Amino acid sequence: MSLVRNLITKLESSALFPHAELSACLRTSDADEIRQLFSAACKMKERVTGRSVFFRGLIEISNVCMRNCFYCGIRKDNAKVQRYSMDEDEILHAAKKALDLHLGSIVLQSGEIQSSEFTERIEKLLLRIRRETEEKLGITLSLGEQSAETYDRWKKAGAHRYLLRMETSNPELFQKIHPKKQRFEQRVACIDYLSSSGWQTGSGVMIGLPGQTYDDLVNDILFLKEHNVDMVGMGPYLPHPDTPLTQHFPYTSGTLLLSLKMIALVRIVLKDVNIAAATALQVLADDGREQAILAGANVIMPNLGGEEFKRNYNLYEGKKDLNDNDDSGMSRLLERLKQLGQKPVWDEYGDPRHFFSRSHP
Ligand code: SAH
Repeated sequence: MSLVRNLITKLESSALFPHAELSACLRTSDADEIRQLFSAACKMKERVTGRSVFFRGLIEISNVCMRNCFYCGIRKDNAKVQRYSMDEDEILHAAKKALDLHLGSIVLQSGEIQSSEFTERIEKLLLRIRRETEEKLGITLSLGEQSAETYDRWKKAGAHRYLLRMETSNPELFQKIHPKKQRFEQRVACIDYLSSSGWQTGSGVMIGLPGQTYDDLVNDILFLKEHNVDMVGMGPYLPHPDTPLTQHFPYTSGTLLLSLKMIALVRIVLKDVNIAAATALQVLADDGREQAILAGANVIMPNLGGEEFKRNYNLYEGKKDLNDNDDSGMSRLLERLKQLGQKPVWDEYGDPRHFFSRSHP
C-alpha cells in the first residue's frame, strides 16, 4: 500500500495521531509517492471547499518592529532597514484597491509594536476601513503578540481573523531562534486566546529551520490540530543576510518540496481549514504559489502595498516583486489558475469552514 493510503487508513481507523505515517510521507523522495500525496490532498480540498481559491490583499502597513527574532530581516537591531509606516490614507487606498479587484478580504501585517498608541491607531484604522468599504472586505490582522484587551478592541473595531504563527511547535527550537524574553508559552497563550474569543485564528511554521527535524514538523501538524486552528500559513525558512541565524547557519534554507508536502499533509489531517499559499514559496519557484494550490492550499495573498513600501518589507532575501497589484500581474496569475482548473472566488470573505464546524468555548 502507498504511504498516503497508509496515512489515510490510519486516520480513518484509529484515534491515535499517525506520527510514523506522517513522518514517512515527509521523508519520501519517491516521485510516485509524492504525486499520490498531492493528489490525495487536492481530493480532500475539493471535498471541503471545491476548487475555490480565495484571495486576501496583503498590505504590509509598517516594518517598524520592537522584536529581535533571529531569522527576520526587519528585526529591531537591523540598522540597514529603512523604516516606514503607511499612513491611514495610504492604507485606505490599498484597501480600496482590494475592493476594485474584487478580492473580498485584506490582511494588515506589520512588525510588532505593543503600545497604547499603536492599539488605538489600528482601532481607528479598522473603524475607517469598515466604514469606507461598507463592510465589504473581510479583515485579517497579522500584528504579532498583543494583550487580550488589545485583541478585544481590534475585534470590536471590525477585524475578524488573526494570523500568529507559532513558528515551530518545539519549545527548545523556538527559544533558539528568538531572544530569551520571547517565550513559546506566551505565543501559545495568544493563539489560544484568539481562538477562544471568537477570532478566526491562523497559525503556522517556518519549514527548514536550522536544527528542525522531521519529527518537529510532524509535531507542528499535531499542534495545529490540537489548538484547533481555522487557518494555516506555512512557508520555507529563507535566510536573510543581516540576521544572526543566517550568520550562524549560512547555508540553511527550506525547500519547496518539503513545504509542499507539509501543505498536503495539513490538508489531509486538518481537512476543512483555509491554507495559504505563502508568498515565500514564490522565492523558490516562479509558480510556487500555484504549486501550493495543487498541493492542497486554497488561499492566495496578492501584495497590494505601493512600491516604496514593498521594497522595505524584507523578512527574507529574494522577495519577488510580484506585481500582483497591477492588472497584468493579476491577470497572469488568474490565467495560470484557470489553466490548473481552479476557480477564483470574487467579492466573498472566504471564511474557513472549520471556524463554523468547531465548537466555540
Ligand atoms: N510581526 C508579525 C507579522 C510579520 S512576520 C508577527 O510576528 O506575527 C510574518 C511571518 O513571516 C512570521 O511569522 C515568520 O514565520 C515569517 N518570516 C519571518 N522571517 C522569515 C524568514 N527569514 N524566512 C521565512 N519566513 C520568515
